[in-house]
Amino acid sequence: MKRKYYLQLLEDIGEVKRNKPFNTKRIVLIAMLKKSINGEVLTLADYIALVNCVHVSALTGKLDDFYSISSSVAENPICKARAKNKCSICHECYAAESVGYRSNLRLSLLINHIIMNCFDIPVDAWKVLSIPSVNGKARIESHGDVASIAASDNIVKIVISHEWLTFGVWTKNHGFYYRSFLKYGKPGNMVFIVSSDKLNTPIELPENIKPYVNHVFTVYTFEYVKKHNVIIHCGYHQCKNCLLCYTIDNDTFYVNEILKADTKRYKAYMGIE
Ligand code: SF4
Repeated sequence: MKRKYYLQLLEDIGEVKRNKPFNTKRIVLIAMLKKSINGEVLTLADYIALVNCVHVSALTGKLDDFYSISSSVAENPICKARAKNKCSICHECYAAESVGYRSNLRLSLLINHIIMNCFDIPVDAWKVLSIPSVNGKARIESHGDVASIAASDNIVKIVISHEWLTFGVWTKNHGFYYRSFLKYGKPGNMVFIVSSDKLNTPIELPENIKPYVNHVFTVYTFEYVKKHNVIIHCGYHQCKNCLLCYTIDNDTFYVNEILKADTKRYKAYMGIE
């Protein structure tokens, strides 16, 4: 837990002009980080104050009508390391790009990142988090990934505390979730999706995580799809019309997406309007 680092970071950022939500949340987080660093026990009211600072993102494009709770790619050392690897799909990360130029989003996700990674928030506090949903579905992680067991513990508890929703939970860092599943079990309303970090290559899962995984999600290039007759499920329609990654029982384990840059060519090839 990098509590001292994040306390210093928030103090260094200071007040941000014309961003009252961030400034208010910053004060709450600084107070809670100080309490925690000083060894004081946080009360349920303290935890609820933290939960009230969580930013829920309204998603657009493929994820129109979906909301997500996400940490920040900009704060995640594992994401940063993968982004440096030219062989990784994270080398061209769309989330890093959008967090990079949208400064308000970056600050909102920084707040989420600190809450997820620095506090062990009880289920009863997570219950107060309002997660809008028009279809009973929600997404975990749209602009980041878990960076610690503390974060995966909190995410499992968010899912447990909102049993009326079904969550598609996305990660490349399945090792953290493995620890959380041992502790809390895997919630029945969680669809657990492990993304492959290389194009055209489904990740090989370790035996210990396999029983928990609903889908392996892999991105393919058009050339590879054409050559190897890969079945594509994703990239040419919206999640709300598909829901493959947001329903508990379906037989499709490997979910394949066409690379965004190749979507037009793929649609023309398949005769998709
Ligand atoms: S397969 Fe369907 S539900 Fe999953 S990400 Fe693609 S469009 Fe969304």
